[in-house]
Amino acid sequence: MAEEPQLPAIPAIMDWDRKKRFVEKKHSVLKCGNCKEDFSRIFKPGDFVFKKVEDEECEKCHRKKSLTIVEIYSEWIDPKKK
Ligand SMILES: [Zn+2]
Repeated sequence: MAEEPQLPAIPAIMDWDRKKRFVEKKHSVLKCGNCKEDFSRIFKPGDFVFKKVEDEECEKCHRKKSLTIVEIYSEWIDPKKK
């Protein structure tokens, strides 16, 4: 990838530039009907809130067919930052 040109330090433009660089990372929060624990994992295509996830097991009690998606959220990560 080409190096970004050095722009003069104008904060507004710098902020905009930084936002453009961020990558959206989606997560789904799953709640277990068995142990009542919830945990998040990477969003998978087809996920939606209130969906019953039958092919995955609970991260806490390892029981299958007990998970429901209760929340989907996204976070913005900087791919250049390790
Ligand atoms: Zn569980």
